[in-house]
Amino acid sequence: MNKVRHVLGISGGKDSAALAVYLHDKYPQLEIEYYFCETDKELDETYKLIDNLESYLGKKIKRLKAAENSPEAQFDHFLKLYGGFLPSPNARWCTRAMKLEPFENYVGSDPTISYVGIRGDEDREGYISHKENIQSIFPFRKNIWSEEIIATVLDNKNQELLMDICNELINSDKKDTIINVLDTPLSLQYNKNRKLNDLLTVSISGFNKIVFEFLKTTNYPISQLDDFPLIENEDILVRDDIFKILEDSGVGVPEYYKKVEFEVDGKKGFYSRSRSGCYFCFFQQKIEWIWLYENHRELFEKAMSYEKDGYTWMQDERLEDIIKPERIKQIKLEQLKRAERNSNPKSPFLIDILEEAEGEGCAACFI
Ligand code: SF4
Repeated sequence: MNKVRHVLGISGGKDSAALAVYLHDKYPQLEIEYYFCETDKELDETYKLIDNLESYLGKKIKRLKAAENSPEAQFDHFLKLYGGFLPSPNARWCTRAMKLEPFENYVGSDPTISYVGIRGDEDREGYISHKENIQSIFPFRKNIWSEEIIATVLDNKNQELLMDICNELINSDKKDTIINVLDTPLSLQYNKNRKLNDLLTVSISGFNKIVFEFLKTTNYPISQLDDFPLIENEDILVRDDIFKILEDSGVGVPEYYKKVEFEVDGKKGFYSRSRSGCYFCFFQQKIEWIWLYENHRELFEKAMSYEKDGYTWMQDERLEDIIKPERIKQIKLEQLKRAERNSNPKSPFLIDILEEAEGEGCAACFI
């Protein structure tokens, strides 16, 4: 049987970078392989972050290229293959072709644990691989397990087995409370999320021990491990913790997260970018496009050159229209209004305002 591999995808964003630092410092015994899926269309700041991380981790981050032998940039290679059809939230060939497939080819059929940096203050699972030999673990969350594992474990048919495991493994005074929760079947009134929450409230590590033991009766990759240090972990990390990890470690926060001042109608506001990924990513908000136009003009022009034959990055507007002076002014004024509604003047990052954009997208590109 193949050895279980531990892998962590570096997207170029803050959360995966912080997770690499966190696991390196806290669990040096885990032999983690780091990888980065190349599109050749990232901002320079992303490559700088990867260089800094490599120095900190003392390890190379493997660059995965889906079309390794192509003389063209990865994105351009696939764009041709897709007949010039630009990707969009509903037709995301880019993530599948350049992120998920190269990752799945890289791990092949090896049993693999993939660490994903979704934070404790986020309510999402991300766009992750669902291949059977790849199991995702979310170390920053209270619940480190994937939705699929929780659904399997908490299925009513496993109630007795879970209670037996609990009786055998849990020695603390919390045992009776855990048994009580396990003994309550799922129903319309008591759903999976409520039960999960009740179990985690009694004891995170207690619940994790029971899940780990239960998974030994399955074929999930983790069943092949004798022990797994993360089951003892009760940390829950939120956005501020992420920035702190990056700053304290010296790896640093990518420049594009830092807010830049603009002026409109005599009023001052701020803009920045909310995420990593391709500079032309269709998930970015209009104010982020204006940030790109005013701070990385050459990249904006390149993004514009992709808009032809009726294909556009945004559903409702062309890039050549968004940069008309009146439109820029309107977008900046809207940004000022949003900032007034939701401002945290102490934060050096604008992500507090752009946060609704954060939940969109996928683990592969932005975390
Ligand atoms: S960053 Fe955006 S454009 Fe680039 S691969 Fe990901 S979803 Fe596609």
